[in-house]
Amino acid sequence: MRFDTVVVTDWSGASTPSPARPSQDAIWIGVARDGEMATSYHRTREAATDALCTLFAAEIDAGRRVLAGFDFPFAYPRGFARALTGTDDPLALWAEIAARIEDGPDNANNRLDAAAEINRRFPGAGPFWANPLGRDIPDLPRTKAEHANPFADKRACDTAKGAQPVWKLAGAGSVGSQALLGIARLQALRKRFGAALSVRPFESAQTPITLVEVFPSLIAKTVAELAEPGEIKDRAQVRILSAALRALAPEQLDAMTRDGDLEEGWILGLGHEGAIDSAARKGLAPAILPPRLRNDCFAMPQGVTWVPVEVALDKLRAALHPVTAHQTLPTAQAAGRVLAAECIARRSNPPRPNSAVDGFGFAHAATGAGVQHLPLVDGRAAAGQPFDGTVPMGAAIRILTGAILPQGVDTVVLEEDTALDGGAVIFDGPLKPHANTREAGEDVVEGAQALPAGHRLRAPDLALLSALGIPEVEVFRPLRVGVLSTGDEIVPSPASPAAPHQIWDANRPMLLSLAKGWGCEAVDLGHVRDDPEQIEIRLNDGADKADVILTSGGASAGDEDHVSALLRRKGTLSSWRIAVKPGRPLALAMWQGRPVFGLPGNPVAALVCALVFARPALSLMAGAGWQRPQGFTVPAAFSKTKKPGRREFLRARLTEAGTAEVFQSEGSGRISGLSWATGLVELPDSALTITPGTPVRFIPYAAFGLV
Ligand code: AMP
Ligand code: MG
Repeated sequence: MRFDTVVVTDWSGASTPSPARPSQDAIWIGVARDGEMATSYHRTREAATDALCTLFAAEIDAGRRVLAGFDFPFAYPRGFARALTGTDDPLALWAEIAARIEDGPDNANNRLDAAAEINRRFPGAGPFWANPLGRDIPDLPRTKAEHANPFADKRACDTAKGAQPVWKLAGAGSVGSQALLGIARLQALRKRFGAALSVRPFESAQTPITLVEVFPSLIAKTVAELAEPGEIKDRAQVRILSAALRALAPEQLDAMTRDGDLEEGWILGLGHEGAIDSAARKGLAPAILPPRLRNDCFAMPQGVTWVPVEVALDKLRAALHPVTAHQTLPTAQAAGRVLAAECIARRSNPPRPNSAVDGFGFAHAATGAGVQHLPLVDGRAAAGQPFDGTVPMGAAIRILTGAILPQGVDTVVLEEDTALDGGAVIFDGPLKPHANTREAGEDVVEGAQALPAGHRLRAPDLALLSALGIPEVEVFRPLRVGVLSTGDEIVPSPASPAAPHQIWDANRPMLLSLAKGWGCEAVDLGHVRDDPEQIEIRLNDGADKADVILTSGGASAGDEDHVSALLRRKGTLSSWRIAVKPGRPLALAMWQGRPVFGLPGNPVAALVCALVFARPALSLMAGAGWQRPQGFTVPAAFSKTKKPGRREFLRARLTEAGTAEVFQSEGSGRISGLSWATGLVELPDSALTITPGTPVRFIPYAAFGLV
């Protein structure tokens, strides 16, 4: 199972509320999601439990799966559950403990009396001990020496360094009180969430909420190292452990939750401390937890009405940043991915000087002008079969392409330029020193940067990285791009019939395919009618499933423009009236922390706006940096008088003669023109009179990453 959210709670067995000011030895909760991390402080167990209830419910609503860890024992040494409940089931013991524990909203509780009552059930002194109170409690020994525990002192997993016996209710590092009070609260959560919650390793159901026992001391050294200066230790523990668990590979984390004993329970990650340590570093690397976009990031300065294209692009560029996490992939599987870190050559290419041709190798110093006659040594040098000996000065050796130059060889003569005479090779001198050889590192030197971060890997790059001995690369996870179509008139698929007043959805397949071609993970959010409630549900869905959402339709400011109306009411809408044709206002908004691009419904305008505005923006968010399409200037094959004040993009293609012709009609409903074209002609904001031969800028579709 894959967990979307990891929650780590540092519990407390205190008897009074913790100080109002965040302090240590109180309850701290850390929450790590993809790219997000938060910690919170709670003064009482009741407040913390309430906060967890709210969090769990919200995560369930959002369709996210939660792993929630608590730093107290979930079970007791073997035999205790049976002695108290008649079964070995630790969850029966939870119910039994919960029935005995009273824990008030102010942390006042009866845990010591409850423990004494349990002790009374056993002959002798019973298992629990330690009483920090002034008053004596009958049957609760003050020291360990006074009791005769019928059970083991510790569980199998309590061999973890620093783990204390679960029976000890007070004193340095004790966990006994935390367990009694914690189990009672978790039992309440079990009741509240029913079949949506399970406790590992005792239960194996795949539920939205999974509870596990954790022990931040497992990674104590890493916590000490990664804690912020002056950070409260409990906060650092929940922050770092939750980020670390979230950063583990999903399968690895899932496997860890299954470890352990069905009666005594288990500390999550015991025996895997190394993996958690390194995940902690990964999970907390700043690039992996990029700052969230601000809600007002798309706001234009007041008074701006028509936004020139360049201003809009600059604004987008300034507002956005990479939002996806990193992962490591084998080089061979990384095509299409964006490097999150530079690649350094592990070895020079070529690693050693070698021959560029099939021929004969020798030392240049022993040759000169005129006919050369060099005796051949026995043996040969071939690719993968080096010659181990030394070639004496004045002698030559048979050598093949790719073979390392043997000792004594620095120059090669091409086979076709030679003749053989018994045991000697004959050719015409002089040859240039190092002729027909490749120098070590002449291509790339060991330690040099092979490719920079932000580079999107293509087939030739895989060749380069492999040649340089780089087996795996650090890449960004693909940006998840949600695509939603809106409109009462839209029929989602051409597989269904459409009445005359209806049209088939043209934008969604186009935008999904664009996103895929840009190396993103395209997330189909479907089609929704012009119904604000439905649009809201879909946007919520989109905010969960995607990092950014593209909608089409309903983005203007008219009566039926429900997307912009909803975004204005419930999100943060910045409606940009961009001085561009085709394309009406572009609606830009933040919805639950995700940028939304409200593209025009008209497919021609939707494509142009997607290519011109969404493409560089998504590229930036995906880690590949801002990308301007590379166009080139060609003579126009058409005539046009262009008005000043806005930029225009015409559907165009190159002719055989290398001129740009444009689609017969500029009508923006003409979808066929998009397929007819092989690119766009971009006309500047100023006025322009174009006649055949006027230089214009042609941008091939390929330059927009349209494949
Ligand atoms: P709107 O932006 O909603 O006012 O739509 C502008 C024009 O685009 C209208 O003619 C719509 O019918 C059309 N349109 C909107 N969405 C789509 C779509 N997904 N596929 C094809 N045409 C659309
Ligand atoms: Mg509409």
